[in-house]
Amino acid sequence: MRTKSILSEAKQIERAVTLIQLGARLQVLESETDLSYERLLRLYKEVAGKSPSKGQLPFSTDWFMTWQPNIHASLFLNIHEYLNKAVELDDIDLVIKAYRLYLEQVRSQGLEPQLSITRAWRLVKFIDNGMLSMTRCSKCGGHFVTHPHEIAKHFVCGLCNPPARAGKGKSGGLQVH
Ligand SMILES: [Zn+2]
Repeated sequence: MRTKSILSEAKQIERAVTLIQLGARLQVLESETDLSYERLLRLYKEVAGKSPSKGQLPFSTDWFMTWQPNIHASLFLNIHEYLNKAVELDDIDLVIKAYRLYLEQVRSQGLEPQLSITRAWRLVKFIDNGMLSMTRCSKCGGHFVTHPHEIAKHFVCGLCNPPARAGKGKSGGLQVH
């Protein structure tokens, strides 16, 4: 049992460090590891080289509904859903893996990531508790983050129907399927 608990702790620390490196807020670490607040705080300062930012986590689903964030959130969630079916991982490790792939994909297209790891983590929670959902676009067939009970027959995604002010090219090339 002793060996097991040491291994488990090592894993928790590794997870926490990874999350800090990806820019996660302290609340994410508190929620996803069993490490004490004091240890997490110390770890955070050591890894990030600064104190964690204070203040509330973003709790609203609104951000995910705005145009560009919605495309980024949808891309992340598609990767997450795919991995969820393909590999056996703990929930938080799945978020980490999907988030890394999201970053890779966005950066490979010369775009700035819009979705933080903290928001990606919250997004999965919103999906799990039914506050947000995924709906298939009636035009392109891609799956996008929407409010629950969106009527699929009439749903058109932000890529097929960008707002006039969005112009062209900004999200260009991002494929969400
Ligand atoms: Zn579409």
